[in-house]
Amino acid sequence: MPQILTTCIYCGCGCGLYLNVVKNNIIGSFPSSESEVSQGSLCVKGWHAHDFINHPDRLKTPLIRSSNGEFRQADWPEAINLITSKLTQLQDENGKDSIAFFSSAKCTNEENFLMMKLARQVFKTNNIDHCARLCHASTVLGLSATFGSAAMTNSISEFENAECILITGSNTTEQHPLIGSRIIKAVKNNNAHLIIVDPRELRLSKFATLHLKQKPGTDVAWLNGIMHIIISNNWHDKEFINKRCEGFDELKSIVAKYTPEYVESITGIRQDDLVNAANIYSKSKSAMIVYSMGITQHTTGVDNVKSCANLAMLTGNIGKLYSGVNPLRGQNNVQGACDMGALPNVYSGYQKVTDPDIKNKFETKWNINNLPSDAGLSVTAAINMAYSNNLKGLYIMGENPMVSDPNINHVKQALNKLEFLVVQDIFMSETAELADVVLPACSFAEKEGTFTNTERRILKIRKAIEPLHNSIEDWKILCKIAKSLGYNWDYDSPSEIMDEIVELTPIYSGVNYNRLENDSIQWPCTDINHPGTKFLHKDKFSKGKGSFQPVDYKLPDEIPDNEYDLILTTGRLYWHFHTRTMTSRSHILERESPHCFVEINYNDAKLRNIKDGQDVKVCTKRGEITLKAKVTDKILEGILFIPFHFVEAAANILTNDALDPQAEIPEYKTCAAKILTLT
Ligand code: SF4
Repeated sequence: MPQILTTCIYCGCGCGLYLNVVKNNIIGSFPSSESEVSQGSLCVKGWHAHDFINHPDRLKTPLIRSSNGEFRQADWPEAINLITSKLTQLQDENGKDSIAFFSSAKCTNEENFLMMKLARQVFKTNNIDHCARLCHASTVLGLSATFGSAAMTNSISEFENAECILITGSNTTEQHPLIGSRIIKAVKNNNAHLIIVDPRELRLSKFATLHLKQKPGTDVAWLNGIMHIIISNNWHDKEFINKRCEGFDELKSIVAKYTPEYVESITGIRQDDLVNAANIYSKSKSAMIVYSMGITQHTTGVDNVKSCANLAMLTGNIGKLYSGVNPLRGQNNVQGACDMGALPNVYSGYQKVTDPDIKNKFETKWNINNLPSDAGLSVTAAINMAYSNNLKGLYIMGENPMVSDPNINHVKQALNKLEFLVVQDIFMSETAELADVVLPACSFAEKEGTFTNTERRILKIRKAIEPLHNSIEDWKILCKIAKSLGYNWDYDSPSEIMDEIVELTPIYSGVNYNRLENDSIQWPCTDINHPGTKFLHKDKFSKGKGSFQPVDYKLPDEIPDNEYDLILTTGRLYWHFHTRTMTSRSHILERESPHCFVEINYNDAKLRNIKDGQDVKVCTKRGEITLKAKVTDKILEGILFIPFHFVEAAANILTNDALDPQAEIPEYKTCAAKILTLT
């Protein structure tokens, strides 16, 4: 039985797995012991990574919406011709920036590069973005401002040897299970100190030295509080600060007022716990900060990220083994989609579209002289522009904003106002149901390419079976569109696309498919003999000196009032992934977690006469959903938690679409809500 080595399609860990193939059917997945990341293990999603591939719901042929509103089957030439003629017509009538492209953190690097190239070279717009806008846009800005590079600073293997691990805004065992296992090993085998700062009890809590439970939306306050304690006690690393950083005096002056008493009044964190956390973190020889969307998805997301970076620099816990700042990327290739320039302001390798030399480099390679030079629209701005009738056409590859975006009712109205919507996917997603043209793409098992995992590791994926039904690999679909508009996109394989990426992208300079065949490489990898980079900022920061970026605490956009008297926060479950498009098609994963629920503290439930398992309604200013109550002591009083995967009770009907002013990331993680019993 053929066994094909590839990379898991789900989270950003990038575990290696084999697919068992029988007659163009995948009948099983099992772990690869050679994988640097997973070392012979997989989480439950990895063991079931193949379940959805042969599912009967797969899109089988292109679909075009008829005048009666129903979809009809079409062949590929008709669908491609309709897309190119309609998008160019919209641009002729309304200008180049009247259309936008959403790329995909589920697709390969090569496909994201081509989507970026399609928007810029072929359609002459920088309106290209993807779902990193919704998860780590604040990381990109916050870490670029402080360190000069926005990626995870360390490697997954380093977690096991860190003396202290501070986790905030990441339910690591649920979201990044294999990293969660490494952290448990660090505690069990190496007596690492684990500090958790999170409003909910997590599986990792029982391994923690300290669990500080903060009110959602108060992260800058407790981070400033820890820094205040460190500076007041002279526990900061003066040599590191003097030699490698700038802006310390400004930081000292901003954090001066964040005394433990003041921080407790904002966050609810007990003063002695905060002092203990500051003591342990600053006195450990090596300390890692781990964060995810609990830090980034706020109107103060960039401030939160900057505060994490400030803390690491203050104690010299950056630029060395087992010490750093580690934003865990959620999807299999969200790091790669960012690296490939599927962002409105940069080409691949974070090279600015506003830099004339960079623009000239891409124009020369692409044999044109009119690339757009202003930054384009983000995902969130594009939706708002569609809502205000200022965006006419949208091409979405492998994303599902009708479940993933905040304030879904607003998103639906915006998408319905578009004159033309194309969705390229493997299933009829909730977003595809609104499209004018739906294109059937291939799953990860039906194509070659690379993903870049959360630790900057470029990993091969390999074709295990031929494309199913009448589907086509995403990169080939994009080539068809470019070619039909007269562009010479004659790539024979993803390897040729990677060669072009390498030529244009300094951080990928030493990569090629021959090297990747036998090994994975962590960028930056600057030439063919470069081994790749285990941890960043060794002797100097990417931007030269590390820059303290002190920030003051600001209130979230929405706080509880008399009517909406609770705080709602959202997150993921171990058994499911994002909008459940794939995991709901796995019998095992769906069986373990088939329904949505809302977690509510015992005391809040008692006050409202809510029983465990009872149907309740949760409402915010944007809408309401009905779901089952889960009464628990694992969440603080005053807070509700809802997993965001379930379309039947979509948490994002409720979430707030207020944006961080710099990163344009929505405030998913805190809004005002009320809970009602059904009468
Ligand atoms: Fe896949 Fe992530 Fe699980 Fe690894 S930890 S098997 S990458 S879902």
